[in-house]
Amino acid sequence: MSSATSEATYVIVGGGLAGAKAVEGIRESDPDGSIVIVAAEEHIPYERPPLSKGVLKGDDTADSAFTHPQEWYAEQHVELRLGDAATAIDPAARTVTLASGATLGYDRLLLATGSTVRRLDVPGADLMDVLYLRTMGDSAALRSRLVAGSNVAVVGAGWIGLEVAAAARERGCEVTIVEPQASPLLGVVGERVGGWFADLHRAHGVDLRLGTGVDRFEGDGQVTGVVTSDGETIQADTVVVGVGITPTTALAEAAGLEVDNGVRCDASLRTSDPHIWAAGDVASWHSTTLGTHVRVEHWANAQDGGLAAGRSMAGQDVTYDPVPFFFSDQYDAGLEYAGYVPRGTDAEVVLRGDPATNEFMAFWVVPEGEGVRVLAGMHVNVWDTIDAVQQLVRNRTVVDRDRLADPDTALDSLAAPA
Ligand SMILES: Cc1cc2nc3c(=O)[nH]c(=O)nc-3n(C[C@H](O)[C@H](O)[C@H](O)COP(=O)(O)OP(=O)(O)OC[C@H]3O[C@@H](n4cnc5c(N)ncnc54)[C@H](O)[C@@H]3O)c2cc1C
Repeated sequence: MSSATSEATYVIVGGGLAGAKAVEGIRESDPDGSIVIVAAEEHIPYERPPLSKGVLKGDDTADSAFTHPQEWYAEQHVELRLGDAATAIDPAARTVTLASGATLGYDRLLLATGSTVRRLDVPGADLMDVLYLRTMGDSAALRSRLVAGSNVAVVGAGWIGLEVAAAARERGCEVTIVEPQASPLLGVVGERVGGWFADLHRAHGVDLRLGTGVDRFEGDGQVTGVVTSDGETIQADTVVVGVGITPTTALAEAAGLEVDNGVRCDASLRTSDPHIWAAGDVASWHSTTLGTHVRVEHWANAQDGGLAAGRSMAGQDVTYDPVPFFFSDQYDAGLEYAGYVPRGTDAEVVLRGDPATNEFMAFWVVPEGEGVRVLAGMHVNVWDTIDAVQQLVRNRTVVDRDRLADPDTALDSLAAPA
């Protein structure tokens, strides 16, 4: 594709991290093209990880989550259309219609519409203080409920549920987690490492109810309890539901773009329409390293993917090929995970170090040749190791299982190509 010209009009739909980073990517090579960010929310773009950590606990202000200061958008000559969602895209006419009725023309369009929380459809779901956590407003509403001594029930032991549980404990709440599976994060880390998360939370006083779901919420206007599927009632002043998200693809589908667990893109993040790109949670891009389409619902992908999409839109030659990465913080456990284990893969978990010390690593491996190949790896409080994990995954290095498990064998020496 030819390089962008100063006459190009870029429209970015979605004012989250991916949308904001796309501006940086565009401006690297097109200082003059006109850029409009169309955002459903009233806020300038912000990062979401602090909403379940520092901002939720009250350690950080909400303002600290903004990706850029307000004046940056004016400096970059970006028009912000806040609180005015895109309602339709017409790829033939190359226009976007907004909720306000305005119509914007574009030469290049980015879909960075992120994800939408999955709602729990049980009796009592509409009671007051049955809450979800995705936006700044959600975080502020939840924070005001995290009062010492109050009872908080968390539904779902995924990343959001676990981080909320940790924040609520740190604010002195009594916390119960209800999770239908046998261990937290079962689908992501498996039972063994999931068991470590269970131990971590129990050690911090969380009451974990595993293997049971939610039958209904109780209360009269205000929620007062959660009735589990095995018939127990958990007292709750506040309920936080964290049962996953779905990519926000309605606009793309209605516009006739190819959608399959996210908006399908090639390795340059271009969709099935040559004038439309996608990035962040909503994009399912073709990963050269992994040889398949992947969609990642994490911060690093929104940041790096947004930047890459912006570059690609402005005519740079882009192959977006990261090893998927995410991080989480719970109590005094900081962790990073890199790699990709396709669903249904029968991966073995190799531990390096003793989980009981809260300083260990875990690898998800499959047998290959004389050893094993690392699909993904995670550390808990073993810092400066994630680059080596990414290298192991990217290089598809076959390693000796025992040396991988041995904390005295430098990871870098395993990761180096033979
Ligand atoms: C509470 C919380 C904690 C998290 N913690 C971590 C963490 O510790 N580590 C990690 O790696 N990841 C974390 N994540 C995930 C990470 O924040 C997301 O992957 C990231 O926000 C995705 O960025 P995005 O720009 O793709 O989408 P989003 O941040 O969802 O932004 C998309 C924006 O598009 C807007 N939009 C949607 N439809 C339209 C439309 N039609 N018109 C206009 N605008 C529209 C939405 O309102 C939204 O503001 C966390 C997420 C949450 C919610």
